Amino acid sequence: MEGFPNCHCNELAVLKTSWTIANPGRRFLGCPNYDGLNPGRSCGFFFWYDAPVQDRAKEVINGLLGRLNNLEREKNAKESKEKKAYSNNSYFGCSNYLLVALILVPCGL
Ligand SMILES: [Zn+2]
Repeated sequence: MEGFPNCHCNELAVLKTSWTIANPGRRFLGCPNYDGLNPGRSCGFFFWYDAPVQDRAKEVINGLLGRLNNLEREKNAKESKEKKAYSNNSYFGCSNYLLVALILVPCGL
């Protein structure tokens, strides 16, 4: 973005959002080469873009994030349960076809 400084790699810094408990939703400028899985690639450039998050706002945001995470966990658990039930049903579906075939064949249909 125009007006952002370059990091120590001499690349345009990128605007990101922190989701830590201490700084939920607070934006910062960082190195575009930062990769959480491979932090050694980054030059370590870091600069807060927003003012610190007030304590009450932290409480509210972290509370909402906790509720959101719980809902997502419940949703994923429900989906994997449904997926398992569906694959069990398709097994029985095949058995039903087999049963129908066995009944029809002796009748000459
Ligand atoms: Zn950099």
